[in-house]
Amino acid sequence: MEIIEIKNLRLGFNCACGFCEAIHNISFSLRKGELHALVGESGCGKTISAMSILRLLPKNAKITGGEIYYDGQNLLNLSEREMNKIRGAKIALIPQDPMTSLNPLYTIENQLLEVIKIHQGLEGHDAYQKAIEALELVQIPCPELRMKSYPHEFSGGMKQRAIIAMALACNAEVIIADEPTTALDVTIQAQIMNLLKEIKEKQGTSILLITHDLALVKENADRISVMYAGDIVESGNNSEFFACPKHPYTIALLNSLPNSGKGRLETISGQPPSIQQGISGCKFHPRCKECMEICVSAKPSETSVSRTHSAKCFLLNKKGVDF
Ligand code: SF4
Repeated sequence: MEIIEIKNLRLGFNCACGFCEAIHNISFSLRKGELHALVGESGCGKTISAMSILRLLPKNAKITGGEIYYDGQNLLNLSEREMNKIRGAKIALIPQDPMTSLNPLYTIENQLLEVIKIHQGLEGHDAYQKAIEALELVQIPCPELRMKSYPHEFSGGMKQRAIIAMALACNAEVIIADEPTTALDVTIQAQIMNLLKEIKEKQGTSILLITHDLALVKENADRISVMYAGDIVESGNNSEFFACPKHPYTIALLNSLPNSGKGRLETISGQPPSIQQGISGCKFHPRCKECMEICVSAKPSETSVSRTHSAKCFLLNKKGVDF
């Protein structure tokens, strides 16, 4: 069952040269209790797509179309006050840099008790107990003692754990994790990912993971959507996605992984286009080794490979031409 559903989302930015569309009519969902990874190179639109769920967008960004449903209600129709009740309490964000969420001037205890009071309405002993339980859930040792610490006294991994604890203390049903392990050592990365998986399994939390790291995705995600230049080009369940990728961009990304089994690592020539660049046809065509004549002028539509796997590429179904 879907807890988040994005339908035909369009979003753009007011730039010096005018309004530029950055997200082109994308649709995807997050099911209850699943970890769905949104994957792609920097600038492909994965973070802004996820942030549009929380309606936390830069001032010059504008959603121009589509719907974003959480538990059946279209978030784009809610007032700012109604959204504030959902942010943090129902849908929590784990950012790449935990210091953007933690206030350096307050102890972890202050900050945990504050969110518990706002989102759960608890105070005093009950709030304190809830805070301790949340810190225990994220495996922070000696929680009574560590609550007294300021964020700068925590390591990067501990700060991420404290943020996850805040989400759990509020009983958030959805966690949006935006490159949550990028700033951490490899061993700590694994610990945080294991923790997120444990929370998903034990608490039934749904997790939208934004990442460029396909190795991390292979280990942890139930479902994967690949973004390229503001569009979702391939989606599928973990097993079929990695066993049988269909889109040339996905295949190139997988072939560039160190453990891809290729003797020599492949690279993808060129750069992803900027949002100001108007590219006709398939947006990947200037970098695609399989590019055909049709790819330059026409956009491929979505083709189902199976009930749970689809991609946008003319190689899959030339009947899908959308002139
Ligand atoms: Fe490559 Fe054409 Fe497929 Fe685009 S549609 S990914 S250019 S083969």
